[in-house]
Amino acid sequence: MDNTALSETSPISSRQPFIDRLSILTPVIIIFAIVFTLSAIKNIYDTSAHAKSLGYSAIATLEDYLDNTASELSELNRHISKTCNVEDTQRLRQYVFQSPKAKEVSLFDAKGQVYCSSNEGKTSFDVGEAALKQIKKTQTLTTIVLSESRSHDTAIFIYSANKDLSGINALLPPNLFLELITPQFELQHYDYQVNILQHSLEHKSGSENQAYRSYDFKSERYPITLTINLTPQSYFTHYGQHIWRVILLASAIAVLYQAIRNYKLTRNSLAFSLKEAINNQELVLNFQPIVDIHQPKIVGSEALIRWNNPDHGSISPTIFIPLAERIQVIEQITHQVFQLVTDFVNLNPHLVQSQYISINVSRTLITKSKFVEFLERYAKRHPDILPLLLLEITEDNDFSPKELETVRTNLGHLKQLGFKIAMDDFGTGYSGLNFIHQHAFDIIKIDQVFIKGLSQNSAIDSVITSMIKLAKQLKMRVIAEGVETHEQVEQLRGLGVRYIQGFYYSEPLPAEDYILKLTAQMEGY
Ligand code: C2E
Ligand code: MG
Ligand code: MG
Repeated sequence: MDNTALSETSPISSRQPFIDRLSILTPVIIIFAIVFTLSAIKNIYDTSAHAKSLGYSAIATLEDYLDNTASELSELNRHISKTCNVEDTQRLRQYVFQSPKAKEVSLFDAKGQVYCSSNEGKTSFDVGEAALKQIKKTQTLTTIVLSESRSHDTAIFIYSANKDLSGINALLPPNLFLELITPQFELQHYDYQVNILQHSLEHKSGSENQAYRSYDFKSERYPITLTINLTPQSYFTHYGQHIWRVILLASAIAVLYQAIRNYKLTRNSLAFSLKEAINNQELVLNFQPIVDIHQPKIVGSEALIRWNNPDHGSISPTIFIPLAERIQVIEQITHQVFQLVTDFVNLNPHLVQSQYISINVSRTLITKSKFVEFLERYAKRHPDILPLLLLEITEDNDFSPKELETVRTNLGHLKQLGFKIAMDDFGTGYSGLNFIHQHAFDIIKIDQVFIKGLSQNSAIDSVITSMIKLAKQLKMRVIAEGVETHEQVEQLRGLGVRYIQGFYYSEPLPAEDYILKLTAQMEGY
């Protein structure tokens, strides 16, 4: 697989192509579409439920209002002499003056004759058949009737009668009465109709034919019925009033979805997987033989780390080692490599006794005192393994003069402890000869780029020749890396190189295959 295609952390970058952004937006759009559709369906039921509760509460409001008015009227009636004297008229007028809704109050006798009114004082006219019939029908002797007032307007009359059917009534203008309930219907865009007995008091219908649903409500105490019709506009209005909840819910789900998605992506990211691989000890070692071409014989090997991840496949150390350095887990990895090498030696002491194993040590670690302390402890704990180990360090121009000084001190200290040190990839760094002169390396490893250019470029041949010459002067051994052909082996032999590492002899091998190879060599095959 192409490791370079793997993301280290989040997949979102500022240069992310439009199509990727679309792939993030699409689920959000789908979430909003689903939430809006489901809430629109739910809105049908919610609007009905709201209309019902508004209908019941409207009837209750009217009943309460009428109950209160009736008890006020009966209270007033109790304090009146029934002779319609000036005082009585005065009281009736005072009530009308104080009442926000009643426009006229009258007293009527047991025969239904009105004999005293707030407007006219003494008077005489009858309350009408319908009213008397209605009063008689009502157990509480309190009722309302819709009829024409003396000024020929439609008016609501509320009657509060005594047992002998005499009593008091008040005129309520329908608009003032309905004001108690209709503003809420208007607000909700409900069509509605209010009936008193069979007479329609108010009928508001803009789109009667479009009414999807209608609900009837009936007062138990008064002859009032209310009909609410739900139209498309009623549903839209209710939906609009609750749209913020829908947006909030959809946003919350979208945020949750993105959070889960990002969490999963992070889990799938290389950095996360690498940390898990370290914790689960998924990293293993391959061993690539190093051959002494004079004998010819395997004299050692380089331990090269391998990571085979179930999600990402096999990942090259050239990818995950720099990543490990960046996310600062390289020290943990190197500890594991030391442990794996130690286990390998302990399991196969007879095979490796005259061999050496080189371990790559990231140069960022060499400056760290904590890592040097780890190596001190290791040297103390494994004095028998120590002589077999070679630490490979690459040259680097990233070090500041102060860091270079630390590197020099630490490498000297490690040598004193008994570690052998090799300079890896010699010739590829920028520090050139300066670095190699300053540090007493045991071995230099000529990088494979030089081997690839052998005989194709005479300049390279002379560079290799001078590298070998320098190594001899400084009493360092030379290993040539990346040797793939017989010709390269012979050319290197001609140049005086004795130790070869490369695919020509063997690719890096899993531990068990390397053991087979060493066993075969030992047994003389
Ligand atoms: P390196 O230390 O220079 O290791 C040699 C690399 O060259 C290895 O690559 C090896 O497989 C490859 N190689 C050997 N012979 C040939 C050949 O004939 N032809 C070709 N084309 N390649 C050859 P690998 O295993 O992929 O490792 C790459 C680099 O990763 C290593 O370069 C080393 O710098 C780093 N690395 C590997 N294991 C570790 C480790 O345990 N710790 C640290 N810090 N770095 C490691
Ligand atoms: Mg190496
Ligand atoms: Mg190398």
